[in-house]
Amino acid sequence: MKTVEELTARFRAHGLRVTPQRQAIFRLLYGAGSHPTVESLYDAARAEMPTISRKTVYQTVHDLEAMGEVAVLDVGTGAIRVDPNVEDAHHHLVCTTCGSVRDVLVDVADLRIPARHRRDFQVDAVEVVFRGRCDACAVES
Ligand SMILES: [Zn+2]
Ligand SMILES: [Zn+2]
Repeated sequence: MKTVEELTARFRAHGLRVTPQRQAIFRLLYGAGSHPTVESLYDAARAEMPTISRKTVYQTVHDLEAMGEVAVLDVGTGAIRVDPNVEDAHHHLVCTTCGSVRDVLVDVADLRIPARHRRDFQVDAVEVVFRGRCDACAVES
């Protein structure tokens, strides 16, 4: 994830307006590392800027995704998650109790679909989701 200054420059280079609201979202995402939902970003942004609209948050996330600065994921937690880590190829650990999402580096290079199941299909990407409970949730149950 790029810094607020770098993202501001990139948005401007693409002819997009950069408002203080958008910069607040950049700041929240930079170093977030926690795959926030758009809704939780909205809540956090509103705490700083009570006038920010939900639409601005969604639009900014959309623009960041279009520029390849964030990834938008559906890891089955019921809400789209924003992933600021687009630098390192990674997969995810998902807590099925609290919905927390963590990056994990696993080597999937050897993951192959047997030829008989692969017919008429070209694989372009592999996403692996490990489901379970985070330590905090495992302790509680
Ligand atoms: Zn958990
Ligand atoms: Zn991630």
